[in-house]
Amino acid sequence: MTLKDAAQGSGAFETDEDCARYEAILFDLDDTLYPLSSGLAAACRQNIEAYMVQKLGIDIHEVPALCTRLYKTYGTSMAGLWAEGWRFDQDDFHRFVHGRLPYQLLRPDPFLRNLILSMPQRKFIFTNADAVHAEIVLKKLGLEDCFEGIICFETINRHPEFAKDQHSDSDVAASQPLIVCKPSQEAMRRAILLAEVDPAKTLYFDDSVRNIAGGKAAGLHTVLVGNSVKCEGADHAITSIHNVKEAIPEIWAEPHFFTELRLSSNAVALETMA
Ligand SMILES: [Mg+2]
Repeated sequence: MTLKDAAQGSGAFETDEDCARYEAILFDLDDTLYPLSSGLAAACRQNIEAYMVQKLGIDIHEVPALCTRLYKTYGTSMAGLWAEGWRFDQDDFHRFVHGRLPYQLLRPDPFLRNLILSMPQRKFIFTNADAVHAEIVLKKLGLEDCFEGIICFETINRHPEFAKDQHSDSDVAASQPLIVCKPSQEAMRRAILLAEVDPAKTLYFDDSVRNIAGGKAAGLHTVLVGNSVKCEGADHAITSIHNVKEAIPEIWAEPHFFTELRLSSNAVALETMA
């Protein structure tokens, strides 16, 4: 009789599917870890449109439609502007768009903090926003020490690991590479590589239906946040991140090493009895 047989006989062993189904979790930040109703997203959109008018000189009447088209086509308005030939200081863009956001609208969320800290998986933020914005938002929510790492604009676009990808075509392309962002498969690939996670054992939370579809295409398990109805590519849908325990209790399923520890104890007990 093998250890596994012995344990199954005792009823102590859970199936492989139940054990350590998820080893890591990727969390989008904006409108995922706090609600869309906070008002930050609307302010962000206003700031992007103001940047396009004031800094790029685009006609104010054309900006709303252009902004929407770029966002839908390229993942973010910034990536769209860059892809369509606009050139600007990317850090200045982030400072302009995020630097004046009404961060005071965000409040500490101790319930979410305890929820996230109780999750036994490795946990990462995965956002298209820049590092400064991510750090401010996490601090405002009281979540700044809940994650192993922040995968953001800078890590996806400027990590030395990917420099070789950006120098492959020509000198021009090398000096002004296209912006990589969710929901592209390249962004997913880079995040998975940087976090060193197995997508088949990774859960990914995002409020964007396009990002959820991209995450599913990359092999991640997906959770649409902010909607009770699943979109294409969503394995789960929850109206709020606060509801995750009821919706996905598997997150707290016992990991393998506990089971193996228990198996060892059973084996010792069997040997002692024999
Ligand atoms: Mg979001």
